[in-house]
Amino acid sequence: MADGEAYEILALKYGTHANRVRADNFLFADDHASPHPIDYFVWVIRNERRTVLVDTGFTHTEAKERGRILDHEPRDLLKLIGIDPETIENVIISHLHFDHAGTLDHFRAAQFHLQETEMGYATGRCMCDEILRRPFNVEHVCQMVRNVYSGRVQFHDGDAEIAPGITVHQAPGHSKGLQCVRVLTNSGWVVLAADASHLYENFEQRRPFPIVVDVEATLRSYDRLEALASSRRHIIPGHDPLVLNRYPPLNERTRGLVHRLDLPRLD
Ligand SMILES: [Zn+2]
Ligand SMILES: [Zn+2]
Repeated sequence: MADGEAYEILALKYGTHANRVRADNFLFADDHASPHPIDYFVWVIRNERRTVLVDTGFTHTEAKERGRILDHEPRDLLKLIGIDPETIENVIISHLHFDHAGTLDHFRAAQFHLQETEMGYATGRCMCDEILRRPFNVEHVCQMVRNVYSGRVQFHDGDAEIAPGITVHQAPGHSKGLQCVRVLTNSGWVVLAADASHLYENFEQRRPFPIVVDVEATLRSYDRLEALASSRRHIIPGHDPLVLNRYPPLNERTRGLVHRLDLPRLD
């Protein structure tokens, strides 16, 4: 085992998009019309010394506008497992899409960790094109700008250590400044891919998700995820409903809502 602190990692499933087909999830999907729902997650990385949140989800209002099912706001799931969202000091934002950066104001003590490239992308000329700005919500982006002005954003440019045993790494392609998170656990190095791979099938079959800025970069990011993780089985895709089948719940009460990703896979 490498040096550093080991952590527990929790996947908190806060929503679902049931009404999807394979063509929504894979470029050039062969069987494009068969149903293929996705889940929405935020992630908690914690040990006795610190708690770090990865991504902030979205709200009931946004769910309604976009036709998603929001089971819980992420802050309510945090409270369910005994974490006060107002006390979290470090929040890693994988990228600024609506389902990852949507409840920033629920985390009033937080410093937000973001790739500089992502902020430039979300506020720059690419947002003049409707197809590129569609996955963003301008209110979230403006809120992040306000956080910059109040000294609450730590920008990273590539690899960076957030805490001993927790690092971020650029994995662009789906968005320009997407970052994944590598975490040391007692089972090895786990990589939270977020949208660097929405589903297991995206990276395993080298079949990118259709919301994409750069297909080549997406493919290279799959290589990066594999290089960073202890094995392919240590990569956690950002939206795959299989995650809840493959890892045990934190406890019986949280089955289907909060599962442990630092433990070995069940399959
Ligand atoms: Zn995304
Ligand atoms: Zn997403």
